[in-house]
Amino acid sequence: MSRKAHTPPAARGAPSARAAPDAPGDLSPEEFRRYARRVADWTASYLAGLERYPVMAQVAPGEIAARLPPQPPDDGEPFDAILRDIEQVLLPGITHWNHPGFHAYFANTASVPGILAESLTAAFNANAMLWRTAPAATELEAVVLAWLRQMMGLPASFDGHINDTASISTLVALAAAREVVTDGGVRERGLAGGPRLTLYASQEAHSSVEKAAIVLGLGQAGVRKIDVDPAFRMDPASLAAAIARDRRDGCTPMAVVATVGTTSTTSVDPVAAIADICAREDVWLHVDAAYGGAMAIVPEYRWVLDGCARADSLVVNPHKWLFVPMDLSVLYCRRPEAIRRAFALVPAYLMTPEDGLARNLMDYGPALGRRFRALKLWMVIRTFGARGMAQRVRGHVELARQWREWIEEAVGWEVMAPAPMSTVLFRHHPDGPGRTPDRPARLPESVLQAHNEEILRRINASGRAFLSHTMVQGRFALRLAVGNLRTQRRHLASTWKLLRRIAAELATPP
Ligand code: PLP
Repeated sequence: MSRKAHTPPAARGAPSARAAPDAPGDLSPEEFRRYARRVADWTASYLAGLERYPVMAQVAPGEIAARLPPQPPDDGEPFDAILRDIEQVLLPGITHWNHPGFHAYFANTASVPGILAESLTAAFNANAMLWRTAPAATELEAVVLAWLRQMMGLPASFDGHINDTASISTLVALAAAREVVTDGGVRERGLAGGPRLTLYASQEAHSSVEKAAIVLGLGQAGVRKIDVDPAFRMDPASLAAAIARDRRDGCTPMAVVATVGTTSTTSVDPVAAIADICAREDVWLHVDAAYGGAMAIVPEYRWVLDGCARADSLVVNPHKWLFVPMDLSVLYCRRPEAIRRAFALVPAYLMTPEDGLARNLMDYGPALGRRFRALKLWMVIRTFGARGMAQRVRGHVELARQWREWIEEAVGWEVMAPAPMSTVLFRHHPDGPGRTPDRPARLPESVLQAHNEEILRRINASGRAFLSHTMVQGRFALRLAVGNLRTQRRHLASTWKLLRRIAAELATPP
């Protein structure tokens, strides 16, 4: 290679006669206006006409990918063609979470203010890693999380920050717990040769707790799954016994995770009694209120967070039951300095004059970059108001109560677990309810399971409702969750009618 080729242009003196051409830019403001109106119109019609679509996508694995070109286009394509493909190719592969008939998992809502906020978030494209890279995002996050904290009745000592999901919020909280229990040892030296750390959660806790233990190096062997009572709540005596056993065996208890609104049955662990044990044992208490925490914004349901003021950390997901589009999870923590001790690591290129004066959100988790998520929560709360949000959550609890009553009153159907929130577990049991000592149940569990699995398959294939399932003490249960702003009593009534028709059509199990 010649010497000349190594000489940078600036060193060669005069600017080059041939200036580099501008790279092609973005679409023009006029194009943006035109397409944005079309997308807004399309979205408004989509939301208004959701009931035209099957709730659960009626496609087979691979079907959508097979309809898409495997290579990227060499040249840009007209926006019209892209929109057409969204409608014709992608839409059949969308499971419509915003559909009023969506009752699977935990039903949620991307509300209109949330959808609009997402568009602005993308326009700002603020990366809130440092205060100076996103002052408004950083400060709005603190303000809106203080609002939500008040709405939930949590104490002012709870400091909040936003993550993408509850799984990450729990991971961050437990990383802080690990930091505290090892007094910084893990951060410096890693786990090798350190104490054997243990983590406690009920048998009903979400899998994200166990996953956090895997990531944090405790391993699944470090997780103690504590027994539950007949209402699926953690048994404090079993918890205390497990901690005592581990201490005797030379383990170091790191944290307890209590759940407010378990995934399967929405049971609420006795947090106050668990907090007593954690205080006595000096163990970090994390509360997973990813779904159930939302219920506390309704004054008469605030009991769901009884005892939680004494937790070290608590996660709640506004993207589950607070009408905020995916994704937004809030981690509240009474010891934010422990989170910073676990995660803050500032290389020279990220140091700023504001360090120590303003919060840099990159210090609160493993990720550096982060989206401006606070905007959508702020816009949703401002649009509906705290009272309006509470009315909506209250309405969902009422709808679920209505569903439970229908099940309880119907012959041949049974409720499978207490339903303290907006989720009901039930099944069709042709010879179940109403049986007497001289007319004992004759259907084995395996037959009942196959029967209800078929009911579930048929209702989901109908496209009119989407339900999910779970296992309750080894028994298969259908699971209906209410959490979508578009769901009304009439939607539940038509789902109930359809379920009964499907059950009647199915031959009575042998
Ligand atoms: N915790 C509970 C109780 C849940 O029900 C769920 C999901 O449904 C999670 C945690 C995980 O939530 P995410 O998807 O935000 O990680």
